[in-house]
Amino acid sequence: MYAKPDSHPMTTRIARAEDAMDAALKSLSYRLTETEESGMEPTRQNGALSAMRNDNARVAEAPEPEIAPLPASAQRVPDAIATGRPSREEAEAAVRTLLRWAGDDPTREGLRDTPARVVKAYGQIFGGYEQDADALLERVFEEVEGYSDIVLVRDIPFYSHCEHHMVPFMGLAHIAYYPTKGVVGLSKLARVVDTFARRLQTQETMTAQIADVIESILKPRGIAVMVEAEHLCMAMRGVQKAGVSTITTQFRGAFRNDANEQVRFLTLVRNKS
Ligand SMILES: [Zn+2]
Repeated sequence: MYAKPDSHPMTTRIARAEDAMDAALKSLSYRLTETEESGMEPTRQNGALSAMRNDNARVAEAPEPEIAPLPASAQRVPDAIATGRPSREEAEAAVRTLLRWAGDDPTREGLRDTPARVVKAYGQIFGGYEQDADALLERVFEEVEGYSDIVLVRDIPFYSHCEHHMVPFMGLAHIAYYPTKGVVGLSKLARVVDTFARRLQTQETMTAQIADVIESILKPRGIAVMVEAEHLCMAMRGVQKAGVSTITTQFRGAFRNDANEQVRFLTLVRNKS
């Protein structure tokens, strides 16, 4: 009945890192071409990525496109990947390429400002990369420390993008936990969902990430997360089935092996009064 929780979150992260590395290498070859044109030898002795850093240092005063400031979250990815983040101008050029690939003319009136709008929109719909879900949960209300029964926040709407097609999937998340050391503000759980939704995702990974962060910060006696979503990549392309809802769950602690606890959670989620 329920989709199997993602058992390979690391594989997903590694694949994402490889993609970013790919992008970094592509921007590298672009920079090396520039260097060759200007008659300077690219530095290759320490491998391609150090050549990129050297090259960056050398052209510091040239009229390079403005490089977006590094987000705090960049500290958590290898330096080479963070350094390889394209400039806004490069990102807009990539959108123009995709518009041409789709068969349209990026110079026509209606599309002229589209690349800038898309890049700006990406800043919002993928803003989760710059947010730290751990920090959202750090402040607990200890005055309700005596409360240890279930806390349920249901029907948290979210919008995400599938990492396979970069097409939206959206739906509702439901989160329940048994607190042990105070509760967090209810809106914080919604922001945790948002933080993970605003990244390229699979529904299974997102469900596990929500459970992971709540588990590691709040250390609840049990946590249950359920995500139900419609994937536009299924509705618009491929099998073209609209209105199909995919459900993923994560049960931890008191919920993990206790059917009664799971039924209680599902009943509370479904019991709309
Ligand atoms: Zn997809």
